[in-house]
Amino acid sequence: MNSFYDNRERQFEEYLRDGITAAKSGQRRLAQSLLERAIYLKNNDARPYIWLSATTDDPQEQIEYLEKAVAVDPSNVAARRGLALLTGKIERQKLMPEGAGLERGSLPQEVEASGEALSCPKCGGRMTFNIQRERLSCEYCGYAESAPDSKIQPGEAEQTLDFYVPTTRGHRWAAAQQLFKCERCGALSLLPPGQKAVECSYCGANQLVHSPEQEELIEPQLIALMQIDEQQANQIARRWLSKGLFSPDGFFRSNSTLRLHPAYYSCWTFDGVVEARWTCEVAEGSGNSKRWLPTSGVEARFFNDVLVSGVSALPTRELDRLAPFYLEEMKEFKPEYLAGWPAVLYDCSLSDASLVGREKVLYKLRPELYSLVEMGREKRNLNISGGNWSGLTFKHILLPLWTGVYQFQGKEYRLMINGQTGKIMGSKPKDAFKQLMALFSLLAIILLIFLTVWMFAGDSGLF
Ligand SMILES: [Zn+2]
Ligand SMILES: [Zn+2]
Repeated sequence: MNSFYDNRERQFEEYLRDGITAAKSGQRRLAQSLLERAIYLKNNDARPYIWLSATTDDPQEQIEYLEKAVAVDPSNVAARRGLALLTGKIERQKLMPEGAGLERGSLPQEVEASGEALSCPKCGGRMTFNIQRERLSCEYCGYAESAPDSKIQPGEAEQTLDFYVPTTRGHRWAAAQQLFKCERCGALSLLPPGQKAVECSYCGANQLVHSPEQEELIEPQLIALMQIDEQQANQIARRWLSKGLFSPDGFFRSNSTLRLHPAYYSCWTFDGVVEARWTCEVAEGSGNSKRWLPTSGVEARFFNDVLVSGVSALPTRELDRLAPFYLEEMKEFKPEYLAGWPAVLYDCSLSDASLVGREKVLYKLRPELYSLVEMGREKRNLNISGGNWSGLTFKHILLPLWTGVYQFQGKEYRLMINGQTGKIMGSKPKDAFKQLMALFSLLAIILLIFLTVWMFAGDSGLF
């Protein structure tokens, strides 16, 4: 009974193969009739539609074919990429050749950047984004602009990775120092790569930074607003520093060197589906007759909001220690949120970050699969490879942090605070003598317990 379908399938593949050959050799009419016959036999395969789009020069017809291809197979990368090109979501001149990457040395070392001062329309005073009132406010007269409205919800902000990764934009990162000119006082200063908002160190004006390089980057789509103000951040840091059994003497007083700075950091999140291929060996039999048999399979997983840092100064593993962030509370990004709150754009490209994201997904999957695969049997050498990644989408988001540096006995220590939750992490000096004493007392206690047990056991005649 299956032979009817097998036959149909075989004929479909033949028409498709001949159709592709004809399309490649420029015999368009022939290609069209062969590919249409293939579709008549099987209408849920994207390939004939993709090749039909190559048999016409009319962009509208090409779009229609590719839309059909995407409709029958939404995960088809070639069809979606082609469609994105045709509908202008990818600009042709920004297309990267397959497998190409940008050279670090090919990017400019320094660019000129201009400032856009945020000043009060009433009194000319400095405007700062007030995190309690959630609006841009004047520090002098109290004038406040209406709160920015957020049109997109965090769940609607995903962009398709396929539209960006084949373009230069997907491979760019902030690389150039910015020679920044203050709009208010004209003073020049050098800003690190990717800095998007700044307070002029001469006149104090809060400004947005514009540079030609930033236009080459992917705009942030969402921002998680800072919820911890400077006073709270200081309290959290000092409380944390005052704790700790092994703090050296005199350490508490040294906290006066602590300076905290707020900043928004560029991060990427990824969603999608992975079909992971796994192989392992399972034991059969026992004792001398035990044999290891190779086995394999595929396991599909949906993943959501996998977080990757976009800034090399903040490694992803440190970001993970500061997690969770309330990603569902994010707002649509508006530049005025950055008034008075510096922001650092990514220096890790989208395409590099997407690889880190995939590694993270597989790393998490491994222990899950270990208990799931061939459940209840003895196994070894479980190996997982990321097979198929489909429906990959990303978001470029800004996350709020307070970062601080303090010194103790000539050494520098760092700490970071999650600007949404107040969670803190960092390094503290430890007094080696106190640690050694603690170890000795622990050993003494163990010895004491041992002796007591030994004496009692001796009394009861057990030894
Ligand atoms: Zn004012
Ligand atoms: Zn200035």
